[in-house]
Amino acid sequence: MHELSVAESIVTIIKENTDGGDAKVSAVRVRIGELAGVIPESLEFCFSAITAGTSLEGSRLEIERTAIVCHCEACGTDSTVNGLVFRCPRCHGPHITITSGNELQVVEIEIDD
Ligand SMILES: [Zn+2]
Repeated sequence: MHELSVAESIVTIIKENTDGGDAKVSAVRVRIGELAGVIPESLEFCFSAITAGTSLEGSRLEIERTAIVCHCEACGTDSTVNGLVFRCPRCHGPHITITSGNELQVVEIEIDD
C-alpha cells in the first residue's frame, strides 16, 4: 500500500526535525498533490496506525491537497487541470508541462510545549 510508505516517510521526517521524536508533536501539516496518488483517508489511517504507542500517538495529520497545474508551451497559460486531461484548457494544445501536483512534503510540524 502506497499510503503506508508515505506515512512512514512522514514519521521519519518528523523524527529528523524533532531531535529523534522526543518532543510532543501536536500536529503535522503535509502538502500532497493530486497527482501523487495518495488517498487522504488511507494516509490518515496508516499514520495513526504506525504512530500508535509511540511518542507521536495522537498527533493530528493535516492534509493539504494541491491541484494539478500545467503550463502550456503554445499560449503560455498556467491552468489547473481537473482529472487527467493533458491538454491546454485555453488553446487545446497538447504541449503542456505539469508544474504542480506531484508534491509530497511536510510543510509544518507543530510542537506542544
Ligand atoms: Zn495553450
